[in-house]
Amino acid sequence: MPASENVMSNRKEIVVPDIGDFDKVPVIEVLVAQGDKVEKEDSLLTLESDKATMDLPSPASGQLVELTVSEGDEVGQGDVIGIIEVSGQAGGNGDSAPAGAAAEKPRESASPEKSQADEGRSGQDTSPVSAPDADHDHDFDLLVLGAGPAGYSAAFRASDLGMKVALVERHETLGGVCLNVGCIPSKALLHVAGVINSASALSDAGIDFGALEIDIDKLRKHKNQVVDRLTAGLAGMAKKRGVEVIHGRGQFSGRNEMTIEHAGKSRHVSFNQCIVAAGSRTVNIPGLPENDSRIMDSTGALELEDIPERLLVIGGGIIGLEMACVYSTLGSEVTVVEMMDRLIPGADADLVRPLQQHLKKSGIRIYTGTKVVEVEAGRDDLAAQLEGGDAPERARFDRVLVSVGRRPNGDRINAQAAGIEVDDKGFVKVDGQMRTNHAHIFAIGDIVGQPMLAHKGSYEGKVAAEVAAGHRRAADARVIPSVAYTDPEVAWVGVTEEQCRADGIEYELGKFPWAASGRALGLGRSEGFTKLIFDRKSDRLIGAGIVGVNAGDLISELALAIEMGSVAADLALTIHPHPTLSESVMMAAEVHEGTITDLYLPKS
Ligand code: FAD
Repeated sequence: MPASENVMSNRKEIVVPDIGDFDKVPVIEVLVAQGDKVEKEDSLLTLESDKATMDLPSPASGQLVELTVSEGDEVGQGDVIGIIEVSGQAGGNGDSAPAGAAAEKPRESASPEKSQADEGRSGQDTSPVSAPDADHDHDFDLLVLGAGPAGYSAAFRASDLGMKVALVERHETLGGVCLNVGCIPSKALLHVAGVINSASALSDAGIDFGALEIDIDKLRKHKNQVVDRLTAGLAGMAKKRGVEVIHGRGQFSGRNEMTIEHAGKSRHVSFNQCIVAAGSRTVNIPGLPENDSRIMDSTGALELEDIPERLLVIGGGIIGLEMACVYSTLGSEVTVVEMMDRLIPGADADLVRPLQQHLKKSGIRIYTGTKVVEVEAGRDDLAAQLEGGDAPERARFDRVLVSVGRRPNGDRINAQAAGIEVDDKGFVKVDGQMRTNHAHIFAIGDIVGQPMLAHKGSYEGKVAAEVAAGHRRAADARVIPSVAYTDPEVAWVGVTEEQCRADGIEYELGKFPWAASGRALGLGRSEGFTKLIFDRKSDRLIGAGIVGVNAGDLISELALAIEMGSVAADLALTIHPHPTLSESVMMAAEVHEGTITDLYLPKS
């Protein structure tokens, strides 16, 4: 249902088009304000009939100079609801949306209350602003620094919204840590490890594939091919979109200027607006030999140079444990040392327990509450001195993987030249619209804070791009799911039980053990469980955790349920296919509701 328009020089009246069988329908939400800049087809109003909710899209790109309706007004076909000053060429019917386009298209913001709440967070006005220095003749409308998942998402979205975009990246390939040396290569290897483990577990069912043979060169090639395919895909998409990729190390040289160094040459580019997406780097610890190739970070471990006989993993967080799973399956004798008293401290302890048991069963040694004090490089191996827990004082290894966290790159972009505030850890401070202390410079992804996850970065990238393009957007997601792609996987979203207890949140649980799931039993993996956390007063889902195979895929339903404000009955009464692991979500809700029939629970 595109709004039609009457042309007045380069101003157009925005007229309500044919709305079907209805004379008048109420305006239930006004999504823009007078003075806003809008793109063609941006939703202006939401109208509601007794049959459907419809968004009224803008007939053209430009600035709303007048808006004559408010929430609660009734409008009908032919009513003028405002005037738009069309940007670019004046008037012309070619600018109007095709008939029927965008009618009833889903709204971009999940809930109006939520957006408003978050928009107020930084005390900044979230209504669109024109880019500072927009009158200056800058090289680009938008410069994005860093082509990881946060940066490329921002650059592509901004380009799709009509901006002239540059994407600056110091490496030859796009995709950042995630595609090149993070999420993607690690998951390619974890998939291989998972298949090996599943195949060998079948010996209990009388199926034996014989001794495992690994061609490490071929495996490395396979992993590299997956990475190459994705990074080449990104380069292709940048080209198709007309995003100019500039290779080199970028540093601010002014509030609207960046200097890019590449192969001994410097290039200066200017921009109206900028999005900083320069990511993070691995943290090192003292007491380790320097320049010894046997000491690796996650990037080195993913290079898969060889399969060491004895591997020490320092750090029992997600990345360390994922790599421990890979190397252990490939044949290394793996020892994990974690300083905290447990693995994956962000997740509830009960969720991590089945993982820890499974890892131990598969031969991985785990020492929590233990510190690696020093590693001494010998000619043949590395001697580690351990302290605390029940670890031996000294142990010898062929390789050491240091996986103790990542730190943001805020200290490496010459932020002071642009006057951007960076905290002492290297994080760039942003508000709810991803703006730094200078409204024309945004920051997104790992460089702005935890959780350092690709999906958080790409979400923030789209928010920043849309705000930069003049849209009313804010980062108002309620939750960000976390996943350890270990074997078994551990996934959680929203609040944890431990957080509830610490913050005094009154909650109730629904927990379904996979030992009662026919599907989990069929897979030979019944060690998992699904746990739902409901707010005691409202009965709304506020958190969830799953441990078990495919937990990372299963958690999305629960992220959606939290975003949609679902109560326990919504999950319990949604018919889930049988037999699946996803049923465990419904059944955990049934446990909470007291309606479960797949378990016998004595009446309390
Ligand atoms: P990055 O991906 O770090 O990208 C930043 C880019 O900026 C880089 O390409 C860098 O070269 C470039 N850059 C930096 N400074 C400059 C400069 N001055 N000039 C030019 N270019 C510059 N997350 C998940 O969600 N799921 C996972 O399964 C997962 N697995 C991971 C596994 C490993 C082994 C690792 C290390 C990380 C993993 N992560 C995972 C985390 C994820 O990779 C990051 O959260 C994500 O890549 C962050 O995206 P980003 O765009 O903010 O930064």
